[in-house]
Amino acid sequence: PEAVEPRRTARTDTSVPGPGATADVPGDGAPLVEGFVNAADTDPAVAAHRSWARRVAAGDGYVPVRTPELTSTQEVDDVVARARSAAAVWSQVSPVTRARALRAIASRLAEARTDLVTALVHEPGKTVAEADPEISEAIDFANYYARAAEELDAVPGARFTPDGVTLVTPPWNFAVAIPVGGVVAALAAGSPVIAKPAPPTPRCFERAVEAIHAGLLDVARECAEGSTDTGFDEALARDVVQFVRVPDGDLGRHLVTHDGVARVILTGALETAQTFASWRPERPLLAETSGKNALVVTPAADLDLAVADLVRSAFGHAGQKCSAASLAILVGSAGDPRTTTGRRLRTQLVDAVRSIVVGPGTDLASVMNPLTEAPSDKLERALTRLEPGESWLVRPRRLSDDGRLWSPGLKEGVAPGSFFHTTEVFGPVLGIMRAATLDEALALQNATDYGLTGGIHSLDQDEVEHWLEHVEVGNAYVNRAITGAIVQRQSFGGWKASAVGPGAKAGGPNYVAELGRWADADDVP
Ligand code: GLU
Repeated sequence: PEAVEPRRTARTDTSVPGPGATADVPGDGAPLVEGFVNAADTDPAVAAHRSWARRVAAGDGYVPVRTPELTSTQEVDDVVARARSAAAVWSQVSPVTRARALRAIASRLAEARTDLVTALVHEPGKTVAEADPEISEAIDFANYYARAAEELDAVPGARFTPDGVTLVTPPWNFAVAIPVGGVVAALAAGSPVIAKPAPPTPRCFERAVEAIHAGLLDVARECAEGSTDTGFDEALARDVVQFVRVPDGDLGRHLVTHDGVARVILTGALETAQTFASWRPERPLLAETSGKNALVVTPAADLDLAVADLVRSAFGHAGQKCSAASLAILVGSAGDPRTTTGRRLRTQLVDAVRSIVVGPGTDLASVMNPLTEAPSDKLERALTRLEPGESWLVRPRRLSDDGRLWSPGLKEGVAPGSFFHTTEVFGPVLGIMRAATLDEALALQNATDYGLTGGIHSLDQDEVEHWLEHVEVGNAYVNRAITGAIVQRQSFGGWKASAVGPGAKAGGPNYVAELGRWADADDVP
């Protein structure tokens, strides 16, 4: 009889959204094709990794958040007062010791990896494959900013003064990496931190702060045993990072606008950044906001790679990344289904999107997880309605009563200037636009207010260089997915409306240096 290919194998052909190493395995070591054993199924290292992933996904050891919410303005004032006292001491701790503390934090975060991944699977609901690299990113931030702390002291003729009390208010979509990045940047600069989690993901940040405290305590104890940094004791280690849960609303506003809060680091929606800016006019705010991101594919692309990167960029964490690809702009024959190239690209993309296995992060087979919250009005519109000219290639389906679990959507015919062309929807829908030329594609890509991430798939160097010269995004990626920036290699931040404030990029060389004031060394007593 004719061999029937198992569905799972089809999924591994061209278009699995990677890394997938943990998601794309049967888990029980059973051969997929009778009589044939895959190497990965017999490798002890792979087996150990799978068994770790199974434990994490099962949620062994998961504990919900313990810290109660603050309930009064007095409690908020007390937190700020403690932070101000800590500022006086922490700013005097030498950069070398601060750097040592950050490296200790990195080690403690590495030790906490299992707990942190577990929290990410159970709170925002990520897959293990999406959650695991986030811990690496958090560790990278701590080690990278340790170097930045040392460099602050080494600028000839210049003196750096840290901002002081810094409020770190991260989003829920990267509930470990982004909060940790903000905290360790401020610590590196010499500022104490008030760490406020996004309401849907308090445990992720709380567990990270436990690791941060453990790292600070490690170094505080060493300092107690004879160093010049005498002020760095256990009490300071606790006060220099305070984890507080503050409900949005009046109390949240009281904290954001507090006179004692010198700097706010925010990652969130553009509207939130604008609100914060209006509440704190002229006062330091560093905000990375929204995006409406496109990946351009030209006929000179490696199509297999382009499809894999489109799927990964659009549907990783169900599209809930401000870096996610929301638009595929197909140039010339790449977008024309009457040509061989266009037909192949379209068929592969449709197959790839259809084959994404959707389910909770607690199930290792899931490639795309549910939404963290029920869809916003904008996302609901994108998932359930077509704008004039659009048609579904893969129609999204609602798979749970609470409205959180959806299958991915792929549509074509997105019109220039339409709702879907310009609106960030933050969910699992990818829209296709067509452009006759690369310049037309660039015009479509640059037409939105945002400028966060963007990509091109082309093996033609002239095309790539032309695109790089004209694309208006903070992070421009070539022949790669447009999510998953790596600390130091791809410092992350926006352009145009995707940044409010100075626009320094996280994980890049100027970020820590932005968190304070510079003066001529001679002018500072
Ligand atoms: N840094 C993340 C990435 O490169 C995106 C962060 C965000 O969504 O806010 O994918």
